Amino acid sequence: MGAGQGRHVVVVGAGIVGASCALFLQRDGHEVTLVDPREPGGGTSLGNAGIISLGSISPVGTRAMLARVPSMLLDRDSPLSLRWRHLPELLPWLVRLVLASRPERVEELSRALAALLDRADQAHDILIQQCGLADLVRSGGWLKVACSREKLLASTAGERAMLERHGRAFEMLDAAQVHDLEPALSAEVAGGLLLPHNRAVRHPQRYVAGIVATFLERGGRHVRAPARELLVEGGRIAGVASEAGKLPADAVVIAAGAFSRKLAGLAGLRVPLEAERGYHLMLPHPAETLRRPVYSIDDGFVLAPMEHGIRLTGGVELASLEAPPDFRRVRRLVPRAQRLLPQLSAEIRSEWQGHRPSLPDSLPVIGRAPGRDNLFLAFGHQHIGLTLGPATGQLVADLVAGREPPVDLAPYRADRRFY
Ligand SMILES: Cc1cc2nc3c(=O)[nH]c(=O)nc-3n(C[C@H](O)[C@H](O)[C@H](O)COP(=O)(O)OP(=O)(O)OC[C@H]3O[C@@H](n4cnc5c(N)ncnc54)[C@H](O)[C@@H]3O)c2cc1C
Repeated sequence: MGAGQGRHVVVVGAGIVGASCALFLQRDGHEVTLVDPREPGGGTSLGNAGIISLGSISPVGTRAMLARVPSMLLDRDSPLSLRWRHLPELLPWLVRLVLASRPERVEELSRALAALLDRADQAHDILIQQCGLADLVRSGGWLKVACSREKLLASTAGERAMLERHGRAFEMLDAAQVHDLEPALSAEVAGGLLLPHNRAVRHPQRYVAGIVATFLERGGRHVRAPARELLVEGGRIAGVASEAGKLPADAVVIAAGAFSRKLAGLAGLRVPLEAERGYHLMLPHPAETLRRPVYSIDDGFVLAPMEHGIRLTGGVELASLEAPPDFRRVRRLVPRAQRLLPQLSAEIRSEWQGHRPSLPDSLPVIGRAPGRDNLFLAFGHQHIGLTLGPATGQLVADLVAGREPPVDLAPYRADRRFY
Protein backbone atom coordinates (compact mmCIF):
# COMPACT_ATOMS: atom_id res chain seq x y z
CA MET A 1 0.00 0.00 0.00
CA GLY A 2 1.06 3.56 -0.67
CA ALA A 3 2.56 5.95 1.83
CA GLY A 4 -0.73 7.84 2.10
CA GLN A 5 -2.80 4.77 2.96
CA GLY A 6 -5.82 4.99 5.16
CA ARG A 7 -6.93 8.49 4.28
CA HIS A 8 -10.49 9.40 3.47
CA VAL A 9 -10.78 10.70 -0.09
CA VAL A 10 -13.86 12.20 -1.75
CA VAL A 11 -13.96 11.95 -5.54
CA VAL A 12 -16.44 14.29 -7.25
CA GLY A 13 -17.77 12.77 -10.48
CA ALA A 14 -18.45 9.13 -11.38
CA GLY A 15 -17.54 9.18 -15.08
CA ILE A 16 -14.65 7.12 -16.45
CA VAL A 17 -12.14 9.52 -14.87
CA GLY A 18 -13.71 9.69 -11.40
CA ALA A 19 -14.52 5.96 -11.31
CA SER A 20 -10.91 5.13 -12.24
CA CYS A 21 -9.56 7.51 -9.60
CA ALA A 22 -11.85 5.93 -7.01
CA LEU A 23 -10.76 2.37 -7.77
CA PHE A 24 -7.03 3.11 -7.89
CA LEU A 25 -7.27 5.15 -4.67
CA GLN A 26 -9.15 2.33 -2.98
CA ARG A 27 -6.45 -0.15 -4.07
CA ASP A 28 -4.00 2.00 -2.11
CA GLY A 29 -6.02 1.42 1.04
CA HIS A 30 -7.91 4.68 1.22
CA GLU A 31 -11.53 4.98 2.26
CA VAL A 32 -13.12 6.52 -0.84
CA THR A 33 -16.47 8.21 -1.40
CA LEU A 34 -17.72 8.97 -4.92
CA VAL A 35 -20.14 11.88 -5.17
CA ASP A 36 -22.37 12.13 -8.22
CA PRO A 37 -26.13 12.51 -8.54
CA ARG A 38 -26.15 10.30 -11.64
CA GLU A 39 -25.72 6.63 -12.25
CA PRO A 40 -22.02 5.74 -12.67
CA GLY A 41 -20.96 6.56 -16.21
CA GLY A 42 -24.20 8.42 -16.83
CA GLY A 43 -22.52 11.62 -18.10
CA THR A 44 -20.37 12.00 -21.20
CA SER A 45 -18.77 8.64 -20.46
CA LEU A 46 -22.07 7.06 -21.48
CA GLY A 47 -22.21 8.34 -25.00
CA ASN A 48 -18.78 8.08 -26.56
CA ALA A 49 -17.68 5.92 -29.46
CA GLY A 50 -15.94 3.49 -27.13
CA ILE A 51 -12.53 3.68 -28.78
CA ILE A 52 -9.42 3.17 -26.68
CA SER A 53 -7.67 5.48 -29.05
CA LEU A 54 -3.95 5.10 -28.45
CA GLY A 55 -3.03 6.98 -31.61
CA SER A 56 -4.85 10.23 -30.73
CA ILE A 57 -1.63 12.09 -30.13
CA SER A 58 -2.54 15.24 -32.04
CA PRO A 59 -4.08 18.17 -30.19
CA VAL A 60 -7.40 19.37 -31.59
CA GLY A 61 -6.09 22.78 -32.67
CA THR A 62 -3.65 22.35 -35.55
CA ARG A 63 -3.01 24.71 -38.49
CA ALA A 64 -4.50 22.12 -40.87
CA MET A 65 -7.69 21.90 -38.83
CA LEU A 66 -7.99 25.66 -38.43
CA ALA A 67 -7.62 26.16 -42.20
CA ARG A 68 -10.80 24.09 -42.64
CA VAL A 69 -12.83 25.95 -40.01
CA PRO A 70 -14.34 28.69 -42.24
CA SER A 71 -15.67 26.23 -44.82
CA MET A 72 -16.87 23.87 -42.10
CA LEU A 73 -18.80 26.65 -40.37
CA LEU A 74 -20.52 27.54 -43.65
CA ASP A 75 -21.53 23.94 -44.36
CA ARG A 76 -24.51 22.88 -42.24
CA ASP A 77 -23.50 19.23 -42.63
CA SER A 78 -19.82 19.58 -41.71
CA PRO A 79 -18.49 17.98 -38.50
CA LEU A 80 -18.12 21.41 -36.83
CA SER A 81 -20.85 23.81 -35.81
CA LEU A 82 -20.93 26.91 -33.68
CA ARG A 83 -23.99 28.45 -32.07
CA TRP A 84 -23.05 32.03 -32.82
CA ARG A 85 -24.77 33.67 -29.88
CA HIS A 86 -22.40 31.77 -27.57
CA LEU A 87 -19.33 33.14 -29.40
CA PRO A 88 -18.54 35.88 -26.82
CA GLU A 89 -18.27 33.38 -23.95
CA LEU A 90 -16.28 30.91 -26.11
CA LEU A 91 -13.88 33.54 -27.45
CA PRO A 92 -11.14 33.25 -24.77
CA TRP A 93 -11.05 29.47 -25.34
CA LEU A 94 -11.00 29.86 -29.13
CA VAL A 95 -8.20 32.45 -29.04
CA ARG A 96 -6.05 30.13 -26.92
CA LEU A 97 -6.83 27.22 -29.26
CA VAL A 98 -5.57 29.27 -32.21
CA LEU A 99 -2.45 30.33 -30.29
CA ALA A 100 -1.78 26.68 -29.37
CA SER A 101 -1.78 25.66 -33.05
CA ARG A 102 1.83 26.83 -33.67
CA PRO A 103 3.63 23.84 -35.18
CA GLU A 104 6.34 23.76 -32.50
CA ARG A 105 3.69 23.95 -29.77
CA VAL A 106 1.64 21.21 -31.46
CA GLU A 107 4.73 19.00 -31.31
CA GLU A 108 5.15 19.68 -27.56
CA LEU A 109 1.48 19.03 -26.92
CA SER A 110 1.65 15.79 -28.90
CA ARG A 111 4.55 14.62 -26.77
CA ALA A 112 2.55 15.40 -23.64
CA LEU A 113 -0.50 13.53 -24.98
CA ALA A 114 1.70 10.61 -26.03
CA ALA A 115 3.18 10.36 -22.52
CA LEU A 116 -0.33 9.76 -21.15
CA LEU A 117 -1.44 7.54 -24.03
CA ASP A 118 1.62 5.34 -23.48
CA ARG A 119 0.11 4.38 -20.14
CA ALA A 120 -3.50 3.99 -21.29
CA ASP A 121 -3.60 0.37 -22.40
CA GLN A 122 -1.92 -1.05 -19.34
CA ALA A 123 -4.18 0.98 -17.02
CA HIS A 124 -7.28 -0.35 -18.82
CA ASP A 125 -5.90 -3.88 -18.49
CA ILE A 126 -5.69 -3.50 -14.71
CA LEU A 127 -9.31 -2.35 -14.51
CA ILE A 128 -10.49 -5.02 -16.98
CA GLN A 129 -8.82 -7.69 -14.88
CA GLN A 130 -9.82 -6.30 -11.47
CA CYS A 131 -13.43 -5.62 -12.44
CA GLY A 132 -14.05 -8.58 -14.79
CA LEU A 133 -14.74 -6.40 -17.83
CA ALA A 134 -13.07 -8.44 -20.60
CA ASP A 135 -16.41 -9.24 -22.28
CA LEU A 136 -16.98 -5.54 -22.89
CA VAL A 137 -13.76 -4.94 -24.80
CA ARG A 138 -12.98 -5.96 -28.37
CA SER A 139 -9.62 -5.98 -30.16
CA GLY A 140 -9.16 -5.39 -33.87
CA GLY A 141 -8.19 -1.76 -34.07
CA TRP A 142 -10.11 1.10 -35.53
CA LEU A 143 -10.45 1.86 -39.15
CA LYS A 144 -10.70 5.18 -41.00
CA VAL A 145 -12.04 4.80 -44.54
CA ALA A 146 -12.57 6.99 -47.59
CA CYS A 147 -14.27 6.54 -50.94
CA SER A 148 -11.32 7.90 -52.89
CA ARG A 149 -7.68 6.89 -52.61
CA GLU A 150 -6.56 10.49 -53.16
CA LYS A 151 -8.78 11.75 -50.34
CA LEU A 152 -7.53 8.98 -48.04
CA LEU A 153 -3.89 9.86 -48.69
CA ALA A 154 -4.38 13.63 -48.48
CA SER A 155 -6.59 13.57 -45.37
CA THR A 156 -4.37 11.23 -43.40
CA ALA A 157 -0.98 12.66 -44.43
CA GLY A 158 -0.52 14.79 -41.30
CA GLU A 159 -1.80 12.06 -39.00
CA ARG A 160 0.48 9.43 -40.58
CA ALA A 161 3.51 11.69 -40.25
CA MET A 162 2.74 12.26 -36.58
CA LEU A 163 2.08 8.56 -35.92
CA GLU A 164 5.41 7.75 -37.54
CA ARG A 165 7.26 10.39 -35.52
CA HIS A 166 5.83 8.94 -32.31
CA GLY A 167 6.40 5.30 -33.26
CA ARG A 168 2.69 4.41 -33.40
CA ALA A 169 1.65 1.46 -35.57
CA PHE A 170 -0.70 2.00 -38.53
CA GLU A 171 -1.43 0.24 -41.83
CA MET A 172 -2.65 1.66 -45.11
CA LEU A 173 -5.20 -0.69 -46.68
CA ASP A 174 -6.55 -0.95 -50.19
CA ALA A 175 -10.23 -1.58 -50.96
CA ALA A 176 -9.90 -5.38 -50.89
CA GLN A 177 -8.10 -5.33 -47.53
CA VAL A 178 -10.77 -3.06 -46.05
CA HIS A 179 -13.53 -5.39 -47.29
CA ASP A 180 -11.74 -8.42 -45.87
CA LEU A 181 -11.81 -6.75 -42.47
CA GLU A 182 -15.28 -5.24 -42.81
CA PRO A 183 -17.37 -7.10 -45.42
CA ALA A 184 -20.47 -5.08 -44.54
CA LEU A 185 -18.99 -1.78 -45.77
CA SER A 186 -20.06 -0.31 -49.11
CA ALA A 187 -18.20 -1.31 -52.27
CA GLU A 188 -17.58 2.43 -52.75
CA VAL A 189 -14.88 2.38 -50.04
CA ALA A 190 -11.51 2.77 -51.78
CA GLY A 191 -9.15 2.22 -48.86
CA GLY A 192 -8.45 2.86 -45.22
CA LEU A 193 -6.04 3.63 -42.44
CA LEU A 194 -6.04 0.97 -39.74
CA LEU A 195 -4.80 1.62 -36.21
CA PRO A 196 -4.37 -2.04 -35.36
CA HIS A 197 -3.60 -1.90 -31.65
CA ASN A 198 -6.62 0.13 -30.61
CA ARG A 199 -9.37 -1.63 -28.74
CA ALA A 200 -13.00 -0.68 -28.34
CA VAL A 201 -15.45 -0.80 -25.46
CA ARG A 202 -18.78 -2.31 -26.49
CA HIS A 203 -20.85 -0.45 -23.89
CA PRO A 204 -19.02 2.50 -22.31
CA GLN A 205 -21.63 3.15 -19.62
CA ARG A 206 -21.61 -0.50 -18.48
CA TYR A 207 -17.80 -0.35 -18.47
CA VAL A 208 -17.84 2.54 -15.97
CA ALA A 209 -20.70 0.95 -14.02
CA GLY A 210 -18.59 -2.24 -13.80
CA ILE A 211 -15.66 -0.32 -12.31
CA VAL A 212 -17.95 1.33 -9.76
CA ALA A 213 -19.67 -1.99 -8.94
CA THR A 214 -16.29 -3.48 -7.99
CA PHE A 215 -15.44 -0.34 -6.02
CA LEU A 216 -18.72 -0.65 -4.06
CA GLU A 217 -18.23 -4.40 -3.47
CA ARG A 218 -14.85 -3.56 -1.93
CA GLY A 219 -16.44 -1.13 0.53
CA GLY A 220 -16.49 2.12 -1.45
CA ARG A 221 -19.41 4.52 -1.11
CA HIS A 222 -21.40 6.39 -3.76
CA VAL A 223 -23.31 9.42 -2.49
CA ARG A 224 -25.95 10.24 -5.11
CA ALA A 225 -26.03 14.01 -4.77
CA PRO A 226 -24.32 16.96 -6.42
CA ALA A 227 -21.30 18.50 -4.72
CA ARG A 228 -22.03 22.18 -4.09
CA GLU A 229 -19.13 23.59 -2.06
CA LEU A 230 -15.65 22.74 -0.91
CA LEU A 231 -15.27 22.71 2.87
CA VAL A 232 -12.27 24.71 4.03
CA GLU A 233 -10.82 24.64 7.55
CA GLY A 234 -7.73 26.57 8.52
CA GLY A 235 -6.87 27.16 4.86
CA ARG A 236 -7.03 23.43 4.03
CA ILE A 237 -9.68 21.58 2.05
CA ALA A 238 -11.65 19.63 4.65
CA GLY A 239 -14.18 17.91 2.41
CA VAL A 240 -17.17 18.60 0.23
CA ALA A 241 -20.64 19.94 0.98
CA SER A 242 -23.12 17.94 -1.07
CA GLU A 243 -26.87 18.14 -1.28
CA ALA A 244 -26.87 14.99 0.87
CA GLY A 245 -24.84 16.72 3.58
CA LYS A 246 -21.24 17.41 4.50
CA LEU A 247 -18.63 14.85 3.44
CA PRO A 248 -15.45 15.41 5.47
CA ALA A 249 -12.26 14.24 3.75
CA ASP A 250 -8.48 14.28 4.04
CA ALA A 251 -8.26 14.82 0.27
CA VAL A 252 -10.69 15.75 -2.52
CA VAL A 253 -10.45 14.92 -6.23
CA ILE A 254 -12.42 16.99 -8.75
CA ALA A 255 -13.25 14.73 -11.70
CA ALA A 256 -16.54 16.18 -12.85
CA GLY A 257 -15.80 16.31 -16.58
CA ALA A 258 -17.05 19.44 -18.32
CA PHE A 259 -18.61 20.62 -15.06
CA SER A 260 -15.27 20.84 -13.29
CA ARG A 261 -14.61 24.51 -14.06
CA LYS A 262 -17.17 25.69 -11.54
CA LEU A 263 -15.92 23.27 -8.87
CA ALA A 264 -12.30 24.30 -9.45
CA GLY A 265 -13.50 27.90 -9.22
CA LEU A 266 -14.63 27.19 -5.66
CA ALA A 267 -10.94 26.78 -4.82
CA GLY A 268 -10.09 30.05 -6.54
CA LEU A 269 -8.78 28.40 -9.73
CA ARG A 270 -9.58 29.79 -13.17
CA VAL A 271 -9.30 27.13 -15.85
CA PRO A 272 -10.47 27.80 -19.42
CA LEU A 273 -12.50 24.58 -19.62
CA GLU A 274 -15.26 24.45 -22.24
CA ALA A 275 -17.42 21.70 -23.65
CA GLU A 276 -16.95 20.36 -27.16
CA ARG A 277 -20.49 19.12 -27.38
CA GLY A 278 -21.16 15.80 -29.11
CA TYR A 279 -24.13 13.69 -30.17
CA HIS A 280 -24.94 10.11 -30.94
CA LEU A 281 -27.80 8.07 -32.34
CA MET A 282 -28.34 4.37 -31.64
CA LEU A 283 -29.46 2.33 -34.64
CA PRO A 284 -30.14 -1.41 -34.78
CA HIS A 285 -27.37 -3.73 -35.95
CA PRO A 286 -27.81 -4.82 -39.56
CA ALA A 287 -27.79 -8.58 -40.27
CA GLU A 288 -24.10 -8.30 -41.17
CA THR A 289 -22.64 -5.69 -38.86
CA LEU A 290 -19.30 -4.00 -38.21
CA ARG A 291 -16.50 -5.76 -36.34
CA ARG A 292 -14.72 -2.62 -35.15
CA PRO A 293 -15.40 1.16 -35.06
CA VAL A 294 -15.19 2.75 -38.50
CA TYR A 295 -14.61 6.46 -39.17
CA SER A 296 -15.80 8.04 -42.40
CA ILE A 297 -13.12 10.43 -43.62
CA ASP A 298 -15.54 11.75 -46.25
CA ASP A 299 -18.29 12.72 -43.83
CA GLY A 300 -16.58 12.98 -40.41
CA PHE A 301 -18.62 10.46 -38.42
CA VAL A 302 -17.94 7.22 -36.56
CA LEU A 303 -20.02 4.05 -36.75
CA ALA A 304 -19.23 2.14 -33.58
CA PRO A 305 -20.62 -1.36 -33.11
CA MET A 306 -21.90 -1.54 -29.54
CA GLU A 307 -23.44 -4.39 -27.60
CA HIS A 308 -26.88 -2.87 -28.14
CA GLY A 309 -26.66 -1.55 -31.71
CA ILE A 310 -24.66 0.69 -34.01
CA ARG A 311 -23.70 4.03 -32.49
CA LEU A 312 -23.50 6.87 -34.98
CA THR A 313 -21.48 9.77 -33.56
CA GLY A 314 -20.17 12.74 -35.41
CA GLY A 315 -18.92 16.21 -35.02
CA VAL A 316 -18.30 18.92 -32.51
CA GLU A 317 -20.79 21.60 -31.59
CA LEU A 318 -19.52 24.70 -29.81
CA ALA A 319 -22.06 26.30 -27.48
CA SER A 320 -22.44 26.82 -23.74
CA LEU A 321 -22.78 23.90 -21.35
CA GLU A 322 -26.43 24.68 -20.73
CA ALA A 323 -27.61 25.15 -24.34
CA PRO A 324 -30.35 22.64 -25.21
CA PRO A 325 -29.46 19.84 -27.64
CA ASP A 326 -30.21 20.15 -31.34
CA PHE A 327 -30.33 16.72 -32.97
CA ARG A 328 -30.95 17.91 -36.54
CA ARG A 329 -27.35 17.70 -37.70
CA VAL A 330 -26.67 14.21 -36.35
CA ARG A 331 -29.99 12.98 -37.78
CA ARG A 332 -28.94 14.25 -41.19
CA LEU A 333 -25.93 11.91 -40.98
CA VAL A 334 -28.14 8.82 -41.16
CA PRO A 335 -28.39 8.64 -44.99
CA ARG A 336 -24.62 9.11 -45.24
CA ALA A 337 -24.09 6.36 -42.72
CA GLN A 338 -26.36 4.14 -44.80
CA ARG A 339 -24.23 4.84 -47.85
CA LEU A 340 -21.19 3.60 -45.97
CA LEU A 341 -22.97 0.64 -44.39
CA PRO A 342 -25.72 -0.17 -46.90
CA GLN A 343 -27.71 -2.57 -44.73
CA LEU A 344 -27.97 -0.07 -41.86
CA SER A 345 -31.56 0.72 -40.85
CA ALA A 346 -32.66 4.34 -40.35
CA GLU A 347 -34.67 3.44 -37.26
CA ILE A 348 -33.35 5.71 -34.50
CA ARG A 349 -33.64 3.80 -31.21
CA SER A 350 -32.28 6.59 -29.02
CA GLU A 351 -30.57 9.99 -29.20
CA TRP A 352 -28.00 11.43 -26.83
CA GLN A 353 -25.98 14.63 -26.33
CA GLY A 354 -22.94 15.10 -24.08
CA HIS A 355 -20.00 17.36 -23.30
CA ARG A 356 -16.36 16.60 -24.11
CA PRO A 357 -14.45 18.48 -21.38
CA SER A 358 -11.78 20.40 -23.32
CA LEU A 359 -8.97 22.79 -22.57
CA PRO A 360 -7.76 24.86 -25.51
CA ASP A 361 -4.37 23.11 -25.68
CA SER A 362 -6.09 19.68 -25.65
CA LEU A 363 -4.20 18.53 -22.55
CA PRO A 364 -6.16 17.49 -19.49
CA VAL A 365 -5.58 19.02 -16.08
CA ILE A 366 -4.06 16.33 -13.87
CA GLY A 367 -2.36 17.13 -10.60
CA ARG A 368 -2.46 18.86 -7.28
CA ALA A 369 -4.33 22.16 -7.31
CA PRO A 370 -1.82 25.02 -7.10
CA GLY A 371 -1.54 26.23 -3.51
CA ARG A 372 -3.67 23.34 -2.14
CA ASP A 373 -1.83 20.26 -1.02
CA ASN A 374 -4.91 18.04 -0.59
CA LEU A 375 -7.05 19.06 -3.58
CA PHE A 376 -6.45 17.06 -6.77
CA LEU A 377 -7.70 17.81 -10.28
CA ALA A 378 -8.51 15.29 -13.01
CA PHE A 379 -10.55 16.70 -15.88
CA GLY A 380 -10.41 18.04 -19.42
CA HIS A 381 -9.77 14.83 -21.37
CA GLN A 382 -11.48 16.14 -24.53
CA HIS A 383 -12.02 13.51 -27.26
CA ILE A 384 -10.05 10.78 -25.47
CA GLY A 385 -11.38 10.63 -21.92
CA LEU A 386 -12.46 7.03 -22.19
CA THR A 387 -8.95 6.19 -23.34
CA LEU A 388 -7.15 8.21 -20.65
CA GLY A 389 -9.49 7.83 -17.66
CA PRO A 390 -7.79 4.77 -16.13
CA ALA A 391 -4.23 6.13 -16.61
CA THR A 392 -5.39 9.37 -15.00
CA GLY A 393 -6.77 7.41 -12.04
CA GLN A 394 -3.36 5.78 -11.54
CA LEU A 395 -1.56 9.13 -11.62
CA VAL A 396 -3.97 10.70 -9.13
CA ALA A 397 -3.53 7.71 -6.81
CA ASP A 398 0.25 8.18 -7.03
CA LEU A 399 -0.07 11.83 -6.02
CA VAL A 400 -2.45 11.17 -3.13
CA ALA A 401 -0.16 8.43 -1.82
CA GLY A 402 2.88 10.68 -2.10
CA ARG A 403 4.55 8.46 -4.74
CA GLU A 404 6.54 10.07 -7.54
CA PRO A 405 4.32 9.72 -10.66
CA PRO A 406 6.03 7.94 -13.58
CA VAL A 407 5.12 10.86 -15.87
CA ASP A 408 6.27 14.46 -15.48
CA LEU A 409 2.96 16.16 -14.68
CA ALA A 410 4.17 19.73 -15.39
CA PRO A 411 2.41 19.94 -18.81
CA TYR A 412 -0.97 19.20 -17.19
CA ARG A 413 -0.83 21.78 -14.40
CA ALA A 414 -3.92 23.88 -13.73
CA ASP A 415 -1.89 27.10 -13.80
CA ARG A 416 -0.23 26.56 -17.18
CA ARG A 417 -0.74 28.98 -20.11
CA PHE A 418 -3.19 26.71 -22.00
CA TYR A 419 -1.74 27.72 -25.39
C1 LIG B 1 -19.74 11.85 -29.21
C2 LIG B 1 -18.52 11.55 -28.38
C3 LIG B 1 -17.68 10.52 -28.75
C4 LIG B 1 -16.53 10.24 -28.00
N1 LIG B 1 -15.76 9.16 -28.34
C5 LIG B 1 -14.69 8.84 -27.57
C6 LIG B 1 -13.92 7.68 -27.87
O1 LIG B 1 -14.23 6.91 -28.79
N2 LIG B 1 -12.83 7.41 -27.09
C7 LIG B 1 -12.48 8.21 -26.04
O2 LIG B 1 -11.47 7.94 -25.40
N3 LIG B 1 -13.23 9.30 -25.71
C8 LIG B 1 -14.32 9.62 -26.43
N4 LIG B 1 -15.07 10.71 -26.12
C9 LIG B 1 -14.67 11.55 -24.98
C10 LIG B 1 -15.05 10.94 -23.64
O3 LIG B 1 -16.37 10.47 -23.67
C11 LIG B 1 -14.90 11.98 -22.53
O4 LIG B 1 -13.63 12.59 -22.61
C12 LIG B 1 -15.04 11.32 -21.16
O5 LIG B 1 -16.27 10.64 -21.08
C13 LIG B 1 -14.95 12.32 -20.04
O6 LIG B 1 -15.06 11.59 -18.85
P1 LIG B 1 -15.21 12.33 -17.45
O7 LIG B 1 -15.25 11.27 -16.42
O8 LIG B 1 -14.19 13.40 -17.36
O9 LIG B 1 -16.62 13.10 -17.57
P2 LIG B 1 -18.12 12.55 -17.45
O10 LIG B 1 -18.28 11.21 -18.00
O11 LIG B 1 -18.99 13.63 -18.02
O12 LIG B 1 -18.34 12.43 -15.90
C14 LIG B 1 -18.42 13.57 -15.08
C15 LIG B 1 -19.40 13.26 -13.97
O13 LIG B 1 -19.38 14.36 -13.06
C16 LIG B 1 -20.68 14.50 -12.55
N5 LIG B 1 -20.82 15.84 -11.97
C17 LIG B 1 -20.87 17.03 -12.61
N6 LIG B 1 -21.01 18.02 -11.71
C18 LIG B 1 -21.05 17.43 -10.48
C19 LIG B 1 -21.21 17.92 -9.15
N7 LIG B 1 -21.33 19.23 -8.89
N8 LIG B 1 -21.22 17.03 -8.14
C20 LIG B 1 -21.10 15.70 -8.37
N9 LIG B 1 -20.95 15.18 -9.61
C21 LIG B 1 -20.93 16.04 -10.65
C22 LIG B 1 -21.58 14.25 -13.74
O14 LIG B 1 -22.89 13.88 -13.31
C23 LIG B 1 -20.85 13.13 -14.46
O15 LIG B 1 -21.34 11.86 -14.12
C24 LIG B 1 -16.22 11.03 -26.86
C25 LIG B 1 -17.09 12.05 -26.47
C26 LIG B 1 -18.23 12.31 -27.21
C27 LIG B 1 -19.15 13.40 -26.77
